[in-house]
Formats: sequence, structure tokens, C-alpha cells
Amino acid sequence: MRTFAYSRADSVERAAHATTPTAAFVAGGTTLLDLVKLDVMQPSELVDINALPLKQVEWLDDGRLKVGALVTNTDLAHHPAVKQHYPLLSEALLAGASTQLRNMATTAGNVMQRTRCPYFRDPSAACNKRHPGSGCDARDGLNRMHAVLGGSEACIAVHPSDMCVAMAALGATLTLEGPDGEREVPFGEFHRLPGDTPHIEHDLADGELITAITLDAPLAPAGSHYLKLRDRASYEFALASCAAQVALDGDSIGTARLALGGVATKPWRCAEAEAALAGQPATLESFERAAEIALADAEPREHNAFKIPLARQAIVRALREAARLAGTTQEEQA
Ligand code: SF4
Repeated sequence: MRTFAYSRADSVERAAHATTPTAAFVAGGTTLLDLVKLDVMQPSELVDINALPLKQVEWLDDGRLKVGALVTNTDLAHHPAVKQHYPLLSEALLAGASTQLRNMATTAGNVMQRTRCPYFRDPSAACNKRHPGSGCDARDGLNRMHAVLGGSEACIAVHPSDMCVAMAALGATLTLEGPDGEREVPFGEFHRLPGDTPHIEHDLADGELITAITLDAPLAPAGSHYLKLRDRASYEFALASCAAQVALDGDSIGTARLALGGVATKPWRCAEAEAALAGQPATLESFERAAEIALADAEPREHNAFKIPLARQAIVRALREAARLAGTTQEEQA
């Protein structure tokens, strides 16, 4: 049995200064405690941050919505400002996990959740993410659930979050607090591609913690849709998912925002596909072209080639629904 110290942080500043490189912050614990029990993570200390004042959701003067790091997934999904102005985020949150897990899981914890690659969670398997330089049993193993975008020779693990896919599409900024003070990181730059260092998953230094995530001002009027395709209807991770947001300009697409989940090593914003949609008619042909562009660089493995057409279909269906909703009033959508 491994032992670890446990402490409760009573201020953000003290939390940021109290940790060592082998300590871990714990809030909902829905990922961390599983991995400690599996002996995949071995923190020397758990710093409980649940008492920190990071549970507010508030509008900023510039029209953005600031979400405290400890707001639970349930509270965020049902918050009136999110339901009305960011329904895409609400849909994505409610597509994730189970009610019980959403009641415990926090916004920052969701951003920080680890991959569900079964080899990562098995200490007897070779895994560069868990043990750098040990190899990757997924490359020639059972890789049906693995990534077709953003992978490397070292790692092809999928980022598992639904919430993060919606945030990638909506645009957001993370606020981090650490020993050197506060700094902000654009959401799209926070998660890293695996490259040669799959054990480094994000732009968070030792001792830093996420204190808030601020969503970009809502794109309005717009329609949006989060479509998650999976092996069963609930409590399952995505095989492919798509967060789509569309603002119309007459019969054409004014602005489109698009991100993918279940197929990539990080929440995957499809910037080239978005650019290709701008100014085009909101038709099936435009959506299919965007889907081709979004998956153009996909690299299948032995068992997951099916994800490429599946993700294309997810994009087309999500865009169709988003465009349909963009053409209706907010009252009709409610
Ligand atoms: Fe580990 Fe990544 Fe390979 Fe999975 S895909 S075994 S997480 S290195």
C-alpha cells in the first residue's frame, strides 16, 4: 500500500505555494482517485481545494462569462446563463459521464482529466504517457478507441472530455494561479499534442492551478449542436463527437465554429473547415466539404479507420442542426 499526505487549502495563494512536484490537487476526484487506486498516479500529497472560493459563474463587463474552477459539471450545465447563451456547452456537459459523476466533477477537473486508453490505466502495459520511454502498447494493440488526429509515434491516446470539445469551439481563456502569480492561457493552447513527450499533457507548471475558465462572448444570433456518437446511449465515451455553432448571414454562413472529440489527442478545433464554411450557402454540399477538410489529415490505425467516416458524419449532422437552429428564433429553440 502506498501512503500519501493529505491537506486542505484555505486560500488560492497558499494552495499555489504549498505544493511540491509530486503533489496533486484534488476537487471532485472523479479521475484522480481512480488512478491512485489503480497505481497509475502516485502523488506524495493530495491538496484538497474544495474550500477555495472558486464556485462563481459571473458575466464580465466585456460580455464574457467567467466560470469558477470548482463549479460542478451539473451546476454549469444547468446554469441559466449557460443554458440561454451557451447551449452548446450545456449539451456537451450533459452528454458526459453520469449524473452522479457530473455532480462531483468540476470545471477545472474536466479540463485536467486523463485519457481512458486502457494501456495507460494498466501498470503492466507499455505506455509512454505513464512511463516515458517504455513504448506504446496501443499502436499495435487494441486501438479501436484511439485517435486518428494529432497522434505521434509515441502516443495516440484520445482526450476524453465532452465539455472541452464545446469550449474549444466556443473559445475560452484559462486563468492559472501559481508561485509566480496569475497568468492566462487561450483554451486552444492549453492541451498539448503528444509529440515525443506524451506525459506532458498541458501548459500547467508545478504548483499552478486553474482558478477560472472565461468563455468568449456568445456568438449571437447563432444555432449550435453537440452530437456525440458512442457504443451505447449513455455513460460512454465518444467514438466521435462534434461541437458546431453557426451564425447565418442571409442564406449563407456568416461564422462557423467547429470542434471534434473522440478522434483526437486533444480537443480538436477545425479552423480550416471553419474558414471554408464562411460565406458559403448553408447546404449539405458545404457541410460535406467542411467534413472532408476537417478529416483530411486523419491517420487510421488497425482498428479505428471507421472513425474517419463516422467523424465526417458527425460534422455534417451537427452543422445541419446548428444551421437549422440558427434560422429559428430563441423562443422557437426553447
Ligand atoms: Fe500510453 Fe498513449 Fe500508448 Fe495509450 S496510446 S498506451 S496512453 S502511450
